[in-house]
Amino acid sequence: MKILVADDDAVSRLALSAVLGHWGYEVTAVADGDAAWSVLMSEESPRLVILDWKMPGREGPAICADLRRQDRPGYFYVILLTALGSRDALVEGMEAGADDFITKPFEPEELRVRLRAGKRILELEAELTASREAYREQAAHDALTGVLSRRAILETLERELSRARRSRTSVAVALCDVDHFKLVNDRYGHQAGDSVLVEIARRMTSALRDSDVVGRVGGEEFLAVLPGADRTTGLAVAERIRAAVSALPVDLPSGSLPVTVSIGVAAKPGEPVTADLLVSAADRALYLAKDEGRDRVRCLEPAPT
Ligand code: GH3
Ligand code: MG
Ligand code: MG
Repeated sequence: MKILVADDDAVSRLALSAVLGHWGYEVTAVADGDAAWSVLMSEESPRLVILDWKMPGREGPAICADLRRQDRPGYFYVILLTALGSRDALVEGMEAGADDFITKPFEPEELRVRLRAGKRILELEAELTASREAYREQAAHDALTGVLSRRAILETLERELSRARRSRTSVAVALCDVDHFKLVNDRYGHQAGDSVLVEIARRMTSALRDSDVVGRVGGEEFLAVLPGADRTTGLAVAERIRAAVSALPVDLPSGSLPVTVSIGVAAKPGEPVTADLLVSAADRALYLAKDEGRDRVRCLEPAPT
């Protein structure tokens, strides 16, 4: 683990660095408060910090207080180092936001166990951050097919629409609904239905360009967001999705099953449009595709606002 030592007393600084290095810490040592501050403000700063109380430039408690005022993510565990042994100093240091306190000359065994407490806090925090990230990642994806969740794909669409507005480019959406999917469930069971959905999501994804994103917005309904695509490109990508899905039957333990999707496409017109309007145009186009016999792509203009 990385550790920052800030102490203007060269003897104490060297002794600390030596013993910390011996214990396996990656030590950055500086001789004044301003140097300490610039290390702390750097991207890859150590999170475990030993600050001398009295130093040229900023003093330990002031650095500590400034550090706590920052709202960057990640915790700094700060131990103040001081020659003052009084209770008042301890209270003042802790009030400034220090986590712990050590008096000079330091007692190695005491330092070692105090550092261990700090390390534990930082490790717990890192675990918490990692599991929060994992949870967020999980919530953004559909558990069955692995494509984006409904919420995540709609957020993607909002984001792409604002980007398109700023850069005066287009966005198209393709709403894909599996044809007669209820029959799959009815004839082969829900589990077979699930396998078909997984395979269809895989085929859809493989038909998309790198910049395109797909999410599951309903039971057997998927939405593809196609950044940069106008009506013509949107239709072409949708046609590729349609063809990729129906190219081969899906193999199931009970036999192989032909599958098709119907797709409604809508592209952002020249003027700004909301995500709702774009998706509802795609939805109307999807109905048209179903009406005209399924396994086809239709496109409609979003209603003018
Ligand atoms: P259409 O061609 O008009 O779209 O017909 P359809 O049968 O696909 O449409 P309908 O909306 O009547 O039926 C959709 C079916 O999808 C009904 C529902 O049981 C099934 N379904 C929805 N979510 C899931 C799922 O997660 N797994 C499985 N196996 N089936 C699902
Ligand atoms: Mg359907
Ligand atoms: Mg449906």
